[in-house]
Amino acid sequence: MIERVEILGVHVDAVTMSQAVERVAQLIAAGKPSLVATANAEMLLRATHDDELKTILNAAKLVVPDGAGTVWAARHLGKFMPERVAGADLVLELMKLAPAKSWKFFMFGAAPGIADKAKLKAETLCPGIKIVGTRNGYFTAVDESDIIAQIKNSRADVLLAALGVPKQEKWLAAHLHELNVPVSIGVGGTFDVMAGVVKRAPLWMQRARLEWLFRAMLQPSRAGRLLALPKFVLKVHRQKING
Ligand code: UDP
Repeated sequence: MIERVEILGVHVDAVTMSQAVERVAQLIAAGKPSLVATANAEMLLRATHDDELKTILNAAKLVVPDGAGTVWAARHLGKFMPERVAGADLVLELMKLAPAKSWKFFMFGAAPGIADKAKLKAETLCPGIKIVGTRNGYFTAVDESDIIAQIKNSRADVLLAALGVPKQEKWLAAHLHELNVPVSIGVGGTFDVMAGVVKRAPLWMQRARLEWLFRAMLQPSRAGRLLALPKFVLKVHRQKING
């Protein structure tokens, strides 16, 4: 039985990477449209003032602890949280298993051309993988029915949506049943990383839990987002004190 830890009103699953992969495999086998979210500190903080996002996350079938902030928060609250399950790593683990399990992926999101580059990368890393469709993440309301039809007709088992937080979660929640894909995951900037447009932090920095610092250094436009971290720390501390 996997524990759920409440962090700022959102339930996060206390899973290891292998438990997360197993859970996704079960959801694919079950076949009912399910949402999987990767909760980092920024997302959890946003959910404190975005009720729609909070409701969506609490209805998700799996919420993995993405990022050092989420793991820290759970432990600070005195709860068990085995390890960090980064969205980009979860995608990679699922892709590695995909050829053997015959799972089909659809990659939706990021700037034009990026999902196609990420697809090529996935095909190199995981020979035999079936990526049954790609679509960039820049669209207007008039394009939506075409996008939904494209995804639905692809008969994918896993939809990776890289539209950023909270757009991807809201879009997926709104169309989950129409799309009829067993597992939909919001994966943020993962396609940019896979396509080589944005670099992942070196391993030593990931291990030192400094990936956030690396991303801020590389994309200074993101640096403002770091302000979320002290706010997150304060709110979690308040939750601890107030119970
Ligand atoms: N994006 C998109 N459509 C949009 C806005 C953003 O496809 O309307 C993409 C953007 O190109 C990038 C990803 O969403 O690939 C968001 O990446 P980011 O690292 O900002 O993700 P987050 O931190 O929000 O998880």
